[in-house]
Amino acid sequence: MGVVDCHCHLAAPEFRGDIESVLEEAKKCKVLALVVVAEYREDFEKIIQLSERYPGFVFPCLGIHPVQCSPTGNDRSVTLKDLDEALPLIELYKDRLLAIGEVGLDFTPRFASTDEQKEGQRQVLIKQIQLAKQLDLPLNVHSRSAGRPTINLLKEQGAERVLLHAFDGKPSVAMEGVKAGYFFSIPPSIIRSEQQKLVKQLPLENICLETDSPALGPEKQVRNEPKNVFIAAEYIAKIKGISVEEVIDITTENAQKLFPRLKNFL
Ligand SMILES: [Zn+2]
Repeated sequence: MGVVDCHCHLAAPEFRGDIESVLEEAKKCKVLALVVVAEYREDFEKIIQLSERYPGFVFPCLGIHPVQCSPTGNDRSVTLKDLDEALPLIELYKDRLLAIGEVGLDFTPRFASTDEQKEGQRQVLIKQIQLAKQLDLPLNVHSRSAGRPTINLLKEQGAERVLLHAFDGKPSVAMEGVKAGYFFSIPPSIIRSEQQKLVKQLPLENICLETDSPALGPEKQVRNEPKNVFIAAEYIAKIKGISVEEVIDITTENAQKLFPRLKNFL
């Protein structure tokens, strides 16, 4: 049995030169499926094209990230206008999507310092939660410096199938998500992060694997790749005192529960 990388950015410019060999490597290492998420509307077509080139291996998610790029090159908080511009494309490709994502809240002060910006992010997330429900799709969710507000909002809005990727909140807050049946994906950067307590506390039944490639690799400043998903699996096994095989089996099962459309391919 192989693994599922539940959250990666393979349409990123970092992969422009060698995406073929990155995917070949991943396949060789027994990565079964790649869940590729979007951040900006400009990513959408690239992600769909990639999923067309690698059917049954690359699975697309479309959504609008809480932090957007502005034409001046500076990152900024998302607005409803960003989402409105993206909605027609999500509608167009809805039947091919594995989930809506990457969506969420990012209250890092340089992106969201005012109440207005935070409220804007909330409104965009609420609309995407409703969209996911309407399309009967899960959500692939980002939260940064906003663990509690993100989980509270998801619960308030009745979101049921949720993946919280690279969660940076307190383990006690994560456990609120576990109670709601949410999954948490652990990236390879866990080996150098402060979220090791989180892995200890999360039940294996609520854990998935991810890479967030090209970010969150085992080494800082080095491009991350899907094949590194096994580094997260090994780490979880070590922390929990179980075999890597068990981690792989259960997390792959979890990925299939979370993303029902995967079942037709694995
Ligand atoms: Zn991401």
